[in-house]
Amino acid sequence: MATPIQENLVKSNQEYAAGFKDGDLALPPSKKYAVVTCMDARIDPASAFGISLGDAHVIRNAGGSAHEALRSLVISEQLLGTTEILLIKHSGCGMLTFQNQDAHGVVAKNLGAQAEAELEGLDFLPFPDLDQGVKDDVTFLKGSKAIPDSVAISGWVYEVETGKVRHVA
Ligand SMILES: [Zn+2]
Repeated sequence: MATPIQENLVKSNQEYAAGFKDGDLALPPSKKYAVVTCMDARIDPASAFGISLGDAHVIRNAGGSAHEALRSLVISEQLLGTTEILLIKHSGCGMLTFQNQDAHGVVAKNLGAQAEAELEGLDFLPFPDLDQGVKDDVTFLKGSKAIPDSVAISGWVYEVETGKVRHVA
């Protein structure tokens, strides 16, 4: 039995595939850049950030963490030729609302000791201040030996309330 979510996938995809004409795009992003942003459901990177199919890599995770995205960024740059990074965090991010100890506590309470042991020492990468979080991630990327100095790196905040982006770093 398919779940309603699975049914939505199949139905929506049938409509999408019926009009699909972009099967010949190249593997490397044509505009040679990568976007790191949050997994937040209120962000539509393609529309909000002007990204057409085939243009760019969009790397998403909780908080738009550059640390967590590093693996993908190295692949993006070294294997697939991207030369610029846009780091975009957002207002109202869930990662502003808790600390590591809180997340570990929830895991222990809801999932038990074995689960907590599995995640022992994991940094959930929360950040208490939005603009500072953007600056810190940009500083981290600029200081990383795994990211060449030739890669252009900028940091931004997307406002989920207005749809606007703001340059931070
Ligand atoms: Zn977020």
